[in-house]
Amino acid sequence: MFDIAGRLFLITGSSRGLGYAMARGFTERGAMVVINGISPDRVAKSTEELRARGGKAYGYSFDVTEESAVDKAVELIETEVGPIDVLVNNAGIHRRAPLEEMSIADWREVIETNLTAAFTVSKLVARRMIRRRKGKIINITSINAEMARPSLGNYCAAKAGLKMLTKSMAAEWGRYGINVNAIGPGYFITDMTEKLVKDPEFDAWVRGEVPLGRWGRPEELIGTAVFLASDASSYVHGHTIYVDGGWQASL
Ligand code: NDP
Repeated sequence: MFDIAGRLFLITGSSRGLGYAMARGFTERGAMVVINGISPDRVAKSTEELRARGGKAYGYSFDVTEESAVDKAVELIETEVGPIDVLVNNAGIHRRAPLEEMSIADWREVIETNLTAAFTVSKLVARRMIRRRKGKIINITSINAEMARPSLGNYCAAKAGLKMLTKSMAAEWGRYGINVNAIGPGYFITDMTEKLVKDPEFDAWVRGEVPLGRWGRPEELIGTAVFLASDASSYVHGHTIYVDGGWQASL
């Protein structure tokens, strides 16, 4: 029921961080993964690392915010590697500033990368999944889809939008055999949060707020991701599963 062996995953933004952890988890269970990111060097290095561990990994570097680049990449992946069984929309960025000082460029870049790109990549992959009447899409949102933090207005709006986009995809594409859900991580230790982890005040705040009393480890997303990518979740549709150490369970 939880078997994902032989399935091909495209994970956007998987050259490091949570995307890489999921890629490792999937390859260790016999799946094939397409590693993506903007930096070709990082994509090549992470792909090689997974291969060295015996994983079936393929590197494709492209910017998810450029529709023509995504279109070309999806075509190439399907021709060179095979049909994409599972798409994980994971690429994401932060640009922090108080709302009254936030530049329109920072607003747009975050919305483009965290929300619009998930629409673009999904649209281009879903057209193929619709023809095959089969596929899975997992969107990586955040606890910030539910809870705001100062200086993250663009990010919170993007992630809340992605939560609703997940429901829209589920509502429209379920009839074509495409199963869509989201994962909402709490605070995990990655490059994105490196500065926050090193800030003693912020670190103490996270440990104090999270009922489990610690940051998440990237590999702790794997279980939920495998569940949502496998037949075990075949009737779970349009939901966000929060993997947040219980943060939203307490005040
Ligand atoms: P990282 O900053 O560690 O990694 C980001 C990844 O996304 C990199 O592989 C990066 O590639 C890639 N990327 C960024 N922009 C683009 C783009 N335009 N096109 C293609 N790839 C891109 O982030 P995390 O692993 O921490 O975060 C992954 C996801 O999880 C994000 O959506 C984030 O919002 C979400 N999340 C993270 C949390 C955390 O605590 N870390 C908490 C909640 C949600 P490159 O190396 O080339 O820049």
